[in-house]
Amino acid sequence: YKKIPLAYRSKDELYTMAVTYNHLMDRLQENYEKQQQFVSDASHELKTPLTIIQSYAQLLKRRGLERPDLFQEAVDAIDAEAVHMKEMTQQLLKVAISTSDFQLPAEKIELNAFCGQSISSFSAIHNRDFQFYPMKERPMVWANREGLKQILFILLDNAQKYSKEHIEVTVGSEGPSATITIRDHGEGIPEKDLSHVTERFYRVDKARNRETGGNGLGLSIAQQMIQNMNGNMRIHSKEGEGTTVTLLLKKAVEGGIEERV
Ligand code: ADP
Repeated sequence: YKKIPLAYRSKDELYTMAVTYNHLMDRLQENYEKQQQFVSDASHELKTPLTIIQSYAQLLKRRGLERPDLFQEAVDAIDAEAVHMKEMTQQLLKVAISTSDFQLPAEKIELNAFCGQSISSFSAIHNRDFQFYPMKERPMVWANREGLKQILFILLDNAQKYSKEHIEVTVGSEGPSATITIRDHGEGIPEKDLSHVTERFYRVDKARNRETGGNGLGLSIAQQMIQNMNGNMRIHSKEGEGTTVTLLLKKAVEGGIEERV
């Protein structure tokens, strides 16, 4: 795209318009580059498991009959990589939804009961216990139920992936916001990586994360989704000590339309 040369313009209305136009073009260019980067990262990430599947399939074709010992290894690898790809495509879909302008409908949610139920269903699937501390009051927020559950599941999944120690989930309050805090006592995130972990595909340790099945999309989805609900996400972490993620959502005040955020 072409910018308007500013040097030849006097500081009149036209000049102001030109500055605004150039600024807009810069932002469009930036978004376009981000989009390009995302497509290129996504295809790269999908290519890796696909290459493994293809190599094992070819190995089976060539030597499967004469080497039955290879059979199990190949089938297991193909199966694991297919699962990985399936999760990745589901998450890519979530990225697309969470970055679109589409706002999920907000419902009034009581956080104590909501967190208790979400933790129970996550524990049942993943066979892991969490210490849950509801708040004395019953904090109500406006949020999308399904969306908030997905965010919680991403954060609980990270906590259990990166920590063997106990994990605490606390419902609390901070000024006008109700909070959900997920605290683990695991490996933590190095300081140099902390500001990057909400970027798409960012992983602290790619080799380690391949084992844990991560793809670096979870936190970027969680952040985008909570922002779509007019909320926020804060991450504190210390390497070797653990990670605390806090979700903040504006409290819904009883009665009156101003409670709607
Ligand atoms: P992933 O699928 O790799 O877990 P995320 O976007 O959820 O992707 O997280 C990005 C990276 O941040 C992870 O790869 C991991 O290195 C780090 N991370 C996230 N949560 C935690 C945690 N609770 N403890 C330690 N590291 C974490």
